[in-house]
Amino acid sequence: MNIINNQYNIGHICSRQQCDNGLGDKVAFRWISANAERTDYTFFALDRESSRFAKVLQTLGFADSDILFTFLPKAPEQFFSFLGALKLQVVCGTLFSNFGDDALLDRLGDAKAKGIVTKKGFLKKITRIKDQLPSLKYIIVTDIEEHQTTEILSYSRLMCKASDDFTAPLTAPDTPSVLHYTSGSTGKPKGVLHVHRSILHQSRTASEVLNLTEKDIFWCTADQGWVTGTSYGIIGPWSLGVTQIHYGGGYDARLWFDLLQKEEVTVWYSAPTALRMLMREDADLYKGYDLSKLRHIFSVGEPLNPEVITWARAIVGKDIYDTWFQTETGGIMITNRPGLEIRAGSMGTTLAGIEPAIIDDNGELLGNNHQGNLCLKIGWPSMFVTYLNNKSAYDSKIKNGYYYTGDTAVRDDDGFYWFKGRSDDVINTAGHLISPFEVESALLEVEEVAESGVIGAPDELLYEKVVAFVHLHKQFTWSKELEVKIRLHVSNRASSIATPQEIIIVESVPKNKSGKIMRRVLKARYLGLDEGDISTLED
Ligand code: AMP
Repeated sequence: MNIINNQYNIGHICSRQQCDNGLGDKVAFRWISANAERTDYTFFALDRESSRFAKVLQTLGFADSDILFTFLPKAPEQFFSFLGALKLQVVCGTLFSNFGDDALLDRLGDAKAKGIVTKKGFLKKITRIKDQLPSLKYIIVTDIEEHQTTEILSYSRLMCKASDDFTAPLTAPDTPSVLHYTSGSTGKPKGVLHVHRSILHQSRTASEVLNLTEKDIFWCTADQGWVTGTSYGIIGPWSLGVTQIHYGGGYDARLWFDLLQKEEVTVWYSAPTALRMLMREDADLYKGYDLSKLRHIFSVGEPLNPEVITWARAIVGKDIYDTWFQTETGGIMITNRPGLEIRAGSMGTTLAGIEPAIIDDNGELLGNNHQGNLCLKIGWPSMFVTYLNNKSAYDSKIKNGYYYTGDTAVRDDDGFYWFKGRSDDVINTAGHLISPFEVESALLEVEEVAESGVIGAPDELLYEKVVAFVHLHKQFTWSKELEVKIRLHVSNRASSIATPQEIIIVESVPKNKSGKIMRRVLKARYLGLDEGDISTLED
């Protein structure tokens, strides 16, 4: 990808620039709905619809640096509104469609979002919290025909009235672009802000790591609520004029393999939990498929266990390349990739210009084969620029020119990095980072719950599962009904992914003398391990 005339605008590069390069009639994405209807959108269509959406926002009074969120399941409107907002230099945040009321309120409130694009089915969640969001002026709904009020507007009505005559202003590389919220182990989720410059690295890695060229058909299964879904489900491939498959349905082994075969997918990017689910199916299910067009499979989000790589070699005849990155890095940093030996179980090696380091808690650089904090020398092109409204959290993660990722790892003598875990209590379940604090807070809202402590425990399928320790108020007793009530509550307030897989009733939740929940102790108890130093536990 070339930056032409200093135009860094992601929306422009992913659509208009591809048309200018002669790819206007090429399919930018084939949309396959959950009930298998197929619609092709060319780069001309992507450019036209995103420009029209930019015009819609402009007419509604959106301007530079205003924030718009999408709160949608996978849908064509997701792509038009994302690129349209970026064309107008409006910052676009993407939200998982399974978020509950608290999760939405935290994010929309912190960002002071001016607008949100959503579906009728999710409207209730937003209207329930709307009066706590004074900045939220417009709710644009993709599946209503008419405007409901002056604030709840029909996407199609707005779009049919808008002209598509819009050209993105010349956008400087450090202009804010994409916003993703990420969960920490304490406090509210943090808004990771990126800038248009990130496209340099997303495009580079789509080419150098994912090996994409204009001839490819690429399928990235990630939801657009997650950084993978924007960096590699939108920006990287379209910056290179690559045709993508976007599928609106969920996991289904047979359907996925039908899709890989029928759509002649050449490069596939997925995640370990999904791959492990495929691995658990009866091997006969995969007989008779012709996946000869498939060149590469990549994985991201959680540790990729070697068994999955072995399975893919046997069933598909392909390697799976593990890649490592996170919301803050904006793009792939450490990776196995075509042309290099795969060291199964390792995240791979680094890319030229990216400088990881293993550093101990005293700030000393560690040599090979020593476990420590995985850090990155600051300054790579897709590095986040701040946590929105939380510069101190950003500053606390950068020391001596290194960004502390929150992961721990080891580098071996050949330069391969091995993931060891998190240095905080954040839970990674099926690739989703869950804050134990958010789940604990949701649990405490249940009338029967007096105390709660939440940990991530190893799980064969999900990598980690959410386990909640709950102490009930004296007058209540545990029952199946209460369990259902608690689960439903966490799902409605936080998200369905954050709902505890296991709830354990305890007499008390261990806390230190300043009242901090000792998750380390809970985890050790759960795993039957030594509880370590418990001298600071409250009496
Ligand atoms: P997120 O910011 O939600 O994309 O989550 C990023 C985190 O997911 C990383 O900091 C890791 O803890 C984990 N992660 C991502 N990719 C990998 C990988 N290939 N191996 C192990 N953990 C990973």
